[in-house]
Amino acid sequence: MRLQILGSAGAEYPGFHPPSFLIDGQLLLDAGTIGSVLSEEEQWKIRDIFITHSHLDHIRSVPALADNIIMKNLKHTVTVHGTADVISALRDHMFNGVIWPDFTKIPSAKDPVILYSIIEPYLEFAVKGYTVQAIPVNHTVPAVGYRVNSACRTLVYTGDTGPTEDIWNYCSGVDALIVEVSFPNNMESLAQVTRHLTSSMLIDELSKIAELPKRIFVTHPKPQYYDIIRREIECLGIDGIELLHDGSVYDI
Ligand SMILES: [Zn+2]
Ligand SMILES: [Zn+2]
Repeated sequence: MRLQILGSAGAEYPGFHPPSFLIDGQLLLDAGTIGSVLSEEEQWKIRDIFITHSHLDHIRSVPALADNIIMKNLKHTVTVHGTADVISALRDHMFNGVIWPDFTKIPSAKDPVILYSIIEPYLEFAVKGYTVQAIPVNHTVPAVGYRVNSACRTLVYTGDTGPTEDIWNYCSGVDALIVEVSFPNNMESLAQVTRHLTSSMLIDELSKIAELPKRIFVTHPKPQYYDIIRREIECLGIDGIELLHDGSVYDI
């Protein structure tokens, strides 16, 4: 399984892009960053996008991708997967004909650029040789993380979350975990209010996993505090943990 970090920051900032994780060039987890870093050919290979929650930093590149597709008249459909809450938010507040055109009807309802797929939390489903499962997490809007299995590799991505429970039951011994830490330790009160994690809160969360994942990739740092958060993560002394940087590629 090849994991490409298109963006991994908890903000838009010089040198940092919002969260997007490309698996084997074709499955995208969150859509914070697409067209600003991928060539057209690379963009066309993405046919399935899994959204964790409706916050703008996780959906912002879907409309721009739709626009890139229609510009080339590719007769090309991208399926956007999300829970009913996420799909409603996209339909009502983004592709609503006001903020952006309704690309589920362009160029035609029969042959659209965007197709919505509503997923049920906890139910495993098959997509292009992978099995995918959405597991609810704890954020200020309805949010899930994703567990993705290929033939012999398993990756779990939490998306944005504060202290949570269920998803840790799906992380034991997996090949890779992408987990958020948004704030430095001295901003824990803001992390609690906004339902994010700090490094010291992450330690409590990881203690809920029976067997730690082989690799732990930390995402969603606020770029203003990137270096502090990196040092605080190093101080945790956990094998195989690292703070992600955009543009990195891993074979897991
Ligand atoms: Zn969020
Ligand atoms: Zn976010």
